[in-house]
Amino acid sequence: MGRMTDTRSALPNKTASCACGGLRLTVAGDPASVYACGCLECQRATGTAFAWRARFAKAAIVSVDGERRSWRRSSDSDRWIEQTFCPSCGTLLYMSAEAIPDDIVVSAGCFGDPAFTAPAAFFWSKHRPAWYALDNGVRSVA
Ligand SMILES: [Zn+2]
Ligand SMILES: [Zn+2]
Repeated sequence: MGRMTDTRSALPNKTASCACGGLRLTVAGDPASVYACGCLECQRATGTAFAWRARFAKAAIVSVDGERRSWRRSSDSDRWIEQTFCPSCGTLLYMSAEAIPDDIVVSAGCFGDPAFTAPAAFFWSKHRPAWYALDNGVRSVA
């Protein structure tokens, strides 16, 4: 047999971590897409004006380490969204959703990298606080 090549190992890994460092998720390569969401659920879940989220294929997950808890809510279309957080510090690290079974959505701020990919779109822009102006490159979706 020849040498097995794991395509994931060829890509640079990125690790997202909760605030206390107890829960860590490592993914390989770049996100499939990056967006911001200003819906009221995301405002509550993050405690701030919007969520900055990076979608990766579940196949890109290298590891998930640490204690975690999850809770589910329903989306507008009545499908579940599961949010996973660190039970010690409460940081929402990632979520999965019935509507996108092959993907995981990671809280982009947890990568701790201000140069991380900018969102291509801002969803629920109508709930965006008036003081927050979007950069020209970000598509606003009401
Ligand atoms: Zn934590
Ligand atoms: Zn949202």
